[in-house]
Amino acid sequence: MTGFIHKSTISNLLTIPVGVAYIKKLDTMKYTLKLLTLLLIILAGCTSAPALPAPTATKQNILFKNTVVSLTFDDGDADNYLVRSSLTENNLRATFYIVSGFTNSNGYMSDEQLRDLYNDGNEIGGHTLSHTKLLEVRGAELKREICQDRSNLLAYGFEVNSFAYPFGYYDDEAKQAVVDCGYGNARAVSGGPETFQPADAYGLRAMPYIVSDTRFPKMTRYVTEVENDGGGWVIFVFHHVCDGCDQYAIKPETFFKFAEWLGEQQSNGLVVKTVGQMMGGK
Ligand SMILES: [Zn+2]
Repeated sequence: MTGFIHKSTISNLLTIPVGVAYIKKLDTMKYTLKLLTLLLIILAGCTSAPALPAPTATKQNILFKNTVVSLTFDDGDADNYLVRSSLTENNLRATFYIVSGFTNSNGYMSDEQLRDLYNDGNEIGGHTLSHTKLLEVRGAELKREICQDRSNLLAYGFEVNSFAYPFGYYDDEAKQAVVDCGYGNARAVSGGPETFQPADAYGLRAMPYIVSDTRFPKMTRYVTEVENDGGGWVIFVFHHVCDGCDQYAIKPETFFKFAEWLGEQQSNGLVVKTVGQMMGGK
C-alpha cells in the first residue's frame, strides 16, 4: 500500500513541471494544491509506515514455566567458599553436602565458613563422616557414618534434612540408615532430570557430574532442554571450584558466569531452590 503511493507520487512529480508551462494560472494553482496534498500524504506515510522490526525471541528471552534448578556442592571443599558472593549477588541459594569429619581440616571449609553460607540462606546437608562408600560398611559402622555426621552438623546449629550418597553408591540398607538417622531426602548422582514428585525421595536423580571440561553452554543447555521438554527439576552436582586442581572441578569463572545466567533467568520465570526447599524442608 505504502509502496503504491510512493510510486504514483514520483511519476506525478516528474510529469507536472513539464505541463505547467502550457496551462493557465488557475490550473497551476489546482496542480499546486494537488501536489501539496500528495506531499502531505507522502510525509504522513513516510513518518508512520516503516515500523521498526519486531523484537525477535532469542535464547536469552526463553520463558521458563516449569523448571527448577538446584545447585549442589559435594564434600565441603575449601574452594567451595569462593562461590559464596556470586550466589548472593545473583539471588541464588545452594545446597552444600558436608563431610563433617573433614570440616576444619586442611582443604575443607571451616565450621565458620559453613555458618556464613548457612546464614546467607544456603542449605547444609550431610555426606557422611568420612566420605565412605556406603556399600562397604554395614550395621553399626554404616549408621555411625550417616548419623554421627548429621549430629555434628546439627551441633553446629544447622537444620539438616538433606543427604547425598558419597560417589552415589547406595542400596536398601544404606537408604534405610539415611531414613533412620532422620534425613528427609537423599541425592544420587545420575538419572536426572528429576520430577517434581520424585519417585524416590531417597534416590533423587541428578544431572551428570559437572567436570573440568563441562562448558558454560552445556550447562545452560541442561536447563533450557528440560524446559523445552515440558519442565522438571534440574539438580546440578559440583565438587571442586578451581582451575584444573581436580577432574571434578569447575573453573571459578565458569561458575560465576553460570550463576549470573541463572540470576538473569529468574526474571524469565526460572526457579532456583535448595534441595531442602524442594523437598519441604528448610
Ligand atoms: Zn562426595
